[in-house]
Amino acid sequence: MKVIRTAVFLFGILGMTGCSNSVQPESLVSLPDPQVITPINIEPQQKVIKKIDDSNSDKKSESAAVINNVKKDGLKVALTFDDGPDEKYTPLILDILKKEQVKATFFVVGEHAKEHPKMMKRLVDEGHAIGNHSWDHVNLSEATADKIQSEIGSTDDMIKQITGVVPTLFRAPYGAVSPQVLNVSMQSGHQVIGWSVDTLDWDGKSVSQILSNVRKEVGPGAIILQHFAGGKHGKLGNTVEALPQIISYLRQKGYTLVTVPELISAN
Ligand SMILES: [Zn+2]
Repeated sequence: MKVIRTAVFLFGILGMTGCSNSVQPESLVSLPDPQVITPINIEPQQKVIKKIDDSNSDKKSESAAVINNVKKDGLKVALTFDDGPDEKYTPLILDILKKEQVKATFFVVGEHAKEHPKMMKRLVDEGHAIGNHSWDHVNLSEATADKIQSEIGSTDDMIKQITGVVPTLFRAPYGAVSPQVLNVSMQSGHQVIGWSVDTLDWDGKSVSQILSNVRKEVGPGAIILQHFAGGKHGKLGNTVEALPQIISYLRQKGYTLVTVPELISAN
């Protein structure tokens, strides 16, 4: 959408420029001497682009800073799980990942970490990456900066207290990232992580629907969203059942499964 909006706006400005100078951009492109083009045409375009960036700075920084996928060389993808831990589904998911020798990334809700410290320790002991997913999973997009800071800070503190790990990743509940959520989370030392593949597992989707969502949306650098607690009516059985099949499918397609920090730092 941003590209389209920018293109439309640019075209509008260029059209106006052409009109005011009584010169159409198309005719300028065909001029033989680039020295003529440069001062008249190219530079104003660059200024226009800068002006667009400035005028949309909130929108631009939001879209630029939330990491939804990481397109680099190589077939790497990251499995991510939100909303836990719990004592019901978290151990089952960890058992599968251990058996398959996959490291994933878990976005932890602070109050659940407090309730289930053993699961938190297991996540870290088994080599998974930990991210912050707020204290009690409220929609932060309408919250004050103080509230956002409190949600993120208390969760960081709890995770650190239990595991010794200081999270550097933050995923907003519901993916609701306002400019303020973005600013506060980044200022407190977090990269803001989204996703590019939504399995919709939380919604009670069938195993085949979950797999279909992965097949349709996955690509190099994908960040795949699943859950490790919660779910519709508290059920995530299909997440557990689908997981070995997702891993098998991704490996068949040549993907290496890595954590989000590994995906971001990969060359
Ligand atoms: Zn969540």
